Amino acid sequence: MNESLLSRRSLITGAIGAATLLATGATLRVLDVAGGDDPPLRPPGIESEEHFLGTCIRCNRCRGACPRDIIVNCDMEDGLINIRTPRLSFHSKFSESYRREEGKDQAMVTSDPYPALLSATGKGFCDFCMLCALSCPTGALKTSFDPEVRWIGEAVIDPLYCIAFEKLGGCRKCADYCPFNAITINEKRQPVVDPKKCNGCGICENICPSSSYRTFKGTMRRGVNIEATTEERPL
Ligand code: SF4
Ligand code: SF4
Ligand code: SF4
Repeated sequence: MNESLLSRRSLITGAIGAATLLATGATLRVLDVAGGDDPPLRPPGIESEEHFLGTCIRCNRCRGACPRDIIVNCDMEDGLINIRTPRLSFHSKFSESYRREEGKDQAMVTSDPYPALLSATGKGFCDFCMLCALSCPTGALKTSFDPEVRWIGEAVIDPLYCIAFEKLGGCRKCADYCPFNAITINEKRQPVVDPKKCNGCGICENICPSSSYRTFKGTMRRGVNIEATTEERPL
């Protein structure tokens, strides 16, 4: 067999192999009923993931009620069991990002963060208005959620995507914008989250510029990401 025929044959075999792997991967993903180890990041007010899955009727009312447009539907990627249940996404268009009240500096915002958050403009973060829970007809989301003692999820810095880990002092936006002073900059000029102060509002993930620089890599990860956790918020 001549060389060009051989290389064409190996090319075709390789392509078939890759297609088979892709198809198998997709099927396995669909069959991954729970969608992996991490539960989706839920709106505030769930009692537990088990209680939520047993009571949410996928009516979409919470999604329609959210004034900050952060509630989206789970899809196949989140696992069959979660399809059409609500999860949070803090990735809104830059023009709709969190904006502090005009003329207010960070110190003024943090002296009274919760009312300031409710009056802030923009979308893509949680202001704890609890309109989602108020609209829930089954009690899957509870209005009694208190962001001073509980959290939606935990802000976690990802050194792979955080610009400050790539370039000394390259960015400190999350620390400057967190209304709860939950992020500080260490001596290496990198951000560090204090879980005792973080409530998972999502502002840091919303304003983090790292994925807009890296969209060519096709990642949804930002330099800081709010991750669902079953742990109690440390007090
Ligand atoms: S508390 Fe308000 S801003 Fe937060 S998810 Fe619910 S409706 Fe949206
Ligand atoms: S805003 Fe994003 S890139 Fe900037 S320091 Fe924070 S996590 Fe890193
Ligand atoms: S989610 Fe981010 S912005 Fe919100 S309190 Fe936590 S660290 Fe601060």
